[in-house]
Amino acid sequence: MIFYNPHGAPELACDHCGCRWVDRTNGAHCYECGEEITVDSIAEFQRALQELATKGPHPGGGTT
Ligand SMILES: [Zn+2]
Repeated sequence: MIFYNPHGAPELACDHCGCRWVDRTNGAHCYECGEEITVDSIAEFQRALQELATKGPHPGGGTT
């Protein structure tokens, strides 16, 4: 599960309980429920990060 913070940056969150306390230093497990974070979720998060790096922090192309 991917969340976007108010700055538009993606944050990886647990698929099972939705919390963002994900331990990525010891495998990839949720602090809250202990479920494993899937490689799909991590891959999605990496894509979101790359997309952010490509598009910049203001998705939508608004010129305000
Ligand atoms: Zn969880």
